[in-house]
Parts: sequence; structure tokens; C-alpha cells
Amino acid sequence: MILPVTVFGDPVLRKVTPDIDKDYKDLHELIENMFETMYNAEGVGLAAPQVGLSVRVFVVDATPMADEEPKLHDFKKAFINPHIIEKDGEEIIMEEGCLSIPFIREEVKRKNRIRMTYFDENWVEHDEVFEGFAARVLQHEYDHLDGILFVDYATPLKKRLLKSKLTAITKGKVQPSYRIKLPKI
Ligand code: ZN
Repeated sequence: MILPVTVFGDPVLRKVTPDIDKDYKDLHELIENMFETMYNAEGVGLAAPQVGLSVRVFVVDATPMADEEPKLHDFKKAFINPHIIEKDGEEIIMEEGCLSIPFIREEVKRKNRIRMTYFDENWVEHDEVFEGFAARVLQHEYDHLDGILFVDYATPLKKRLLKSKLTAITKGKVQPSYRIKLPKI
């Protein structure tokens, strides 16, 4: 089932999400719905707060980028209770966008390598190092679980320039191709 995507201004996007338990209800259905919602909106990642749930879960599928980065050929996964335990490597600047902030793209500087622990959808625990574009996508989605959005990294000047565009999103004056859920304000 395709779920509506929460947008900038929704308090759920600003919450730090808690880990979930193994008996979390309908986890497989949630993951399936998140993948479906992400594909429908043509995103490469989607975090639970973006479908209105404050839990520590996100999904990614960067396999379409495998042409440019062959390592991504199988980079389709659900991440449950992810925790980044190390960040290192070069700092790389790249433009990012977000399904919760439609039509805005900004450059974000991020580390090129992370080490993260997480569970997959079968509750198998992983401790893995990710680099390059995978590390970029994971840090963006991980930020969602800590209530951080990519526009938070903009300079104060850029933030001032973005303000009216972000307000327009919150007020529903922006309509992407996928269904969104406006904050109750
Ligand atoms: Zn995002």
C-alpha cells in the first residue's frame, strides 16, 4: 500500500526515533509499504517518520545507480534499529533532495565512509562499513531517524533564502507527483 509522505513542518520529522522490539506489530507490512511508497515517489530512500511513524526503520534502493557505481547493484535493503558507530574518510559535497522537501535540492557535505550496526527484516544483526553513494544515502536516511533534515546543513544565508519555499511546502502550495500528508498547523 502506498502511504502519504509527511512534509517539512510536520513535527514527526523532528523527533528522535526509538529502537523497535522484535515483536513490533506488522513490521513486514510496514517495510513493504515503505518500499512501495518510495518507488511510487521515485526516491532512493525512505525513513519511517516520512510515513508518519516515529520508529527507527528506513529502506533504501540505490540499485538504479549501479551503472555509475557497480557496488550498488544489490544495494536494496531495509534497516532496522540502525546505529552509526563510526564516520571517517574524505568529506564530500553532493547535492541532495528529499521526498519530504519536494523540489528543493541543496549541497550537503558528508563523510565518505560510515560503519553502522543494524538488523535486517529477518532480525539478523549486521555490523557493516559503507562507502561512497551508499554512505551518502544512509547518512541522509539516518538523519531522519534523529529528526535532522538535509536543509539543516545549509548556511544561514541559504536558510533565509529557503524559508519561503519551505513554508510553501508546509502550507501545501507545492504538489509533487506522489501523495503527501500536510502537517496539522
Ligand atoms: Zn529525506
